[in-house]
Amino acid sequence: MTLRPVQAADAWAMGLALDEARRAVQTADVPVGAVVVGPAGDVVGRGRNRREADDDPTGHAEILALRSAADRLGRWRLDDCTLVVTLEPCLMCAGATVLARIPRLVLGAWDPKAGACGSQWDVVRDRRLNHRVEVVGGVRADECGLLLQRFFEAQRD
Ligand SMILES: [Zn+2]
Repeated sequence: MTLRPVQAADAWAMGLALDEARRAVQTADVPVGAVVVGPAGDVVGRGRNRREADDDPTGHAEILALRSAADRLGRWRLDDCTLVVTLEPCLMCAGATVLARIPRLVLGAWDPKAGACGSQWDVVRDRRLNHRVEVVGGVRADECGLLLQRFFEAQRD
């Protein structure tokens, strides 16, 4: 199968988000990783779940990736960036994606229990908000999901 350039770029960026997710396990954090791809197509922000590492209830991968991108670019408005994350964002992160004016979200595995980008809620495409996000789901979903599955299996053992 030949991927179109945009699909290949999404798959590449998801690989970097997966690298971040794998690093989260070192601090006993749930393996979720995120990157922000800037207007030139390069990565301008990275983050991984650090809730346990930092004792921070808001220490989700997406929040940290958005913060690092805003810091790097010197602006909070990320209206020319793509957020790439291994798991469907929660309510907080979906809200932050809207507030950062991200136009495009690429996600790996869906989160049927707590996802807020189409599963339980659809915050990023809520017509009551003045900003809406294009959602591309299921990119390298098997790898993203397997990482989480293995983490929770190991926790039970
Ligand atoms: Zn979140």
